[in-house]
Amino acid sequence: MNQAFIGLGSNLGDSRQHILDAIDALARLPGTRVLARSRLYSTPPWGVLEQPSFVNAAVSIETPLAPHELLDALLTIERAAGRVRGGERWGPRTLDLDLLHVAGVTLSDERLTLPHPRMAERAFVLLPLNDLAPDLQVPGVGTVGELLAAVDSSECTLLP
Ligand code: ATP
Ligand code: MG
Ligand code: MG
Repeated sequence: MNQAFIGLGSNLGDSRQHILDAIDALARLPGTRVLARSRLYSTPPWGVLEQPSFVNAAVSIETPLAPHELLDALLTIERAAGRVRGGERWGPRTLDLDLLHVAGVTLSDERLTLPHPRMAERAFVLLPLNDLAPDLQVPGVGTVGELLAAVDSSECTLLP
């Protein structure tokens, strides 16, 4: 079994519902269990600033799927939520599911890089991930708690 950490984001449509539905969809993947779920956060857009704020969360799962199979499953869940690719990079989306880390795995190929290459600079990833795994060592970069302390999360707020 693999333990994997997934970052979820949405800023189009009913973002909270997209996130909650995606967590349910992850729990329905073959042999897969959601181990822990973060709180939900409202976060400012990143990369492209002229767009609505995001809802972000993170989950840890246990799954028999190999990393590339899991990536395919994430892309399928995104499509089911109406995610359309081909627009502006980092533009608005109904659902983004990024594979942040798989325990014991570092790899990089044309489809998948692990750990996720931009996670260390993103408060919207680190804040929810810190709910689940503050002591998690991200290979080559440090613990989630240390990384979170080094980014500006002042504009991120906990959602009720
Ligand atoms: P970012 O990766 O900066 O968060 P994004 O999530 O908007 O940007 P997407 O359009 O969702 O980018 O993904 C583009 C491609 O990134 C995916 O089709 C996938 O093949 C690739 N990719 C590489 N590494 C990962 C990863 N760790 N998690 C998810 N997708 C990845
Ligand atoms: Mg992303
Ligand atoms: Mg993505």
